[in-house]
Amino acid sequence: MSFKAIRIDKDEQGYRAGLADFAEADLMEGDVTVAVSHSTINYKDGLAITGKSPVVRRFPMIPGIDFAGVVESSSHADWKAGDKVVLNGWGVGETHLGGLAQKARVKGDWLVRLPDAFSPAQAMAIGTAGYTAMLAVMALEAHGANPQHGPALVTGAAGGVGSVATALLAARGWTVIASTGRAAEADYLKSLGAAEIIDRAELSSPGRPLGTERWAVCVDSVGSHTLANALAQTKYGGAVAACGLAQGMDLPASVAPFILRGVSLLGIDSVMAPQARRREAWRRLARDLDVGKLAAMTQTIPLAGAMQAGRDILEGKVRGRVVVEIG
Ligand code: NDP
Repeated sequence: MSFKAIRIDKDEQGYRAGLADFAEADLMEGDVTVAVSHSTINYKDGLAITGKSPVVRRFPMIPGIDFAGVVESSSHADWKAGDKVVLNGWGVGETHLGGLAQKARVKGDWLVRLPDAFSPAQAMAIGTAGYTAMLAVMALEAHGANPQHGPALVTGAAGGVGSVATALLAARGWTVIASTGRAAEADYLKSLGAAEIIDRAELSSPGRPLGTERWAVCVDSVGSHTLANALAQTKYGGAVAACGLAQGMDLPASVAPFILRGVSLLGIDSVMAPQARRREAWRRLARDLDVGKLAAMTQTIPLAGAMQAGRDILEGKVRGRVVVEIG
């Protein structure tokens, strides 16, 4: 028995990804087999598909760090055939065969029940990018931040994490300042709830250790100088949730915001986040995310389109989210 999948190989012929037939017998160990109906293209999937960064640790690999689908068979106590599930992270698509395929075999402990509020397609429109945006908002709230403290900056705003973060923060009453390199997406970002659009060039070059206090919190998916400048312009006692590296993995910052303004830098990891936090994030997404806004930020492609979408996301050409309909 075989199924359709995106397959990545690395050998003497080089690094390549393409649509292929994959033998079910070659699936990796796991106590739950899922018929995958939808996956997505996240930034990390772009890195895996193109080989631009060494995120794939085993070959052949099926990329796809997330998926939604229906349990086909299970020997795990929590899951039975017919259950609708979502998976984010846990090394799936990196060290364990991933979601850009008609089938996945994973540990039942990795799965989250699909919230009633979402179809599988909507859950993947959120995907790991949107779930990470929710983790970032939860971290800022746990820090004690609230909209009375000042505006919220979102960097990489027209991307996946940024689009969902913009919609979530606006829905919670924050005045959102959206930083983007794509001025043409201003109307799109305002439709998600952004109050102000700034040019990402304001933040992407080396800056001063401290600047004018402009925002109380930030969800940053960009890293590098952008994160350093976001910290330097955060108000006294504020917090920045760092979740991405679209500009770079470096952090050319000083300690000034921390020791002179009591600013906090909150690290956000979606891959190994404990189950309780995941369930809470999905519960909060079901409560707080306007599915109309979700539709506006989403495009849908077939499995065969994953390679092009992977290249596009690394070039910053993708607006919002890409759902892959597995079919
Ligand atoms: P996207 O490509 O959809 O969004 C990234 C956005 O960053 C782009 O749309 C663009 O926004 C901006 N950007 C791109 N290149 C640059 C650059 N050179 N300088 C400044 N801004 C840039 O990716 P995702 O939203 O899927 O992921 C965003 C980041 O978050 C990635 O680095 C990803 O690896 C990370 N991530 C981390 C997770 C975690 O667990 N911590 C989970 C999910 C994602 P615009 O056009 O608006 O400027």
